[in-house]
Amino acid sequence: MINLKTDEEIEILRENNLLVSKTLAEVGKHIKPEITTLELDRIAEEFIRDNGAEPGFLGYNGFPNTLCISVNSVVVHGIPSNYRLQEGDIVSVDCGTKMKGFYGDSAYTFAVGTISAEAANLLKITKECLFKGIEQINSGARTGDISNAIQTHAERHGYSVVREMIGHGLGRNMHEKPDVPNYGKKGNGAKLQSGMVICIEPMINAGKRDIYIEDDGWTVRTCDKKYSAHFELAVAIRDKGKADILSTFKFIEDTIN
Ligand code: MG
Ligand code: MG
Repeated sequence: MINLKTDEEIEILRENNLLVSKTLAEVGKHIKPEITTLELDRIAEEFIRDNGAEPGFLGYNGFPNTLCISVNSVVVHGIPSNYRLQEGDIVSVDCGTKMKGFYGDSAYTFAVGTISAEAANLLKITKECLFKGIEQINSGARTGDISNAIQTHAERHGYSVVREMIGHGLGRNMHEKPDVPNYGKKGNGAKLQSGMVICIEPMINAGKRDIYIEDDGWTVRTCDKKYSAHFELAVAIRDKGKADILSTFKFIEDTIN
């Protein structure tokens, strides 16, 4: 069942997702060689609580922290630790909030200092995949149109698409219907309707698509240990199939550029 949101509920979702966007920018300011991923997690938790919300991921299905921090070959769900970021790392930071009964959820992959041209291209193409997906949102579109646009763009550049984790509806629950895979066929999947709120989140691998979960039960890593990148925004579908993007990378990109 797909929970369609009222205009008022979409505004609460926007508040949550803007706070996530600002939290990611705050974290981004501190992404430098030598900081530990656990220090980044504390910065995010304090920022979220100072802004009147709760971390959305902390305790979610038992997840131990505020942020999922996924470095280099980690795809998603990395647990913050004493690992110190190094020049040349790429680091995906996924953040959730909960406020007024609704969730926010967004992710950005940052460069630590100067990164290789190979890593920089993966970040560029993965972010483009996300916006190619959003461009598909239109009156009469289906989730498969988004999926297909993401897959096509990634594979055109020689990258592969993770299958096991996908985008999702967002609302009073972190993960709702409809599913929004990052691969698939045009014309398949749920029809987009006014009041739907979805998270589109391509997870794109530089090498093969195969992944495994480490012994901690969370960390998802590429089998070939090549880089993986992840970008995520929450989008509401409004009247006439118009996309209303609830989160934004503006705060991040104003900070890091
Ligand atoms: Mg997320
Ligand atoms: Mg998500």
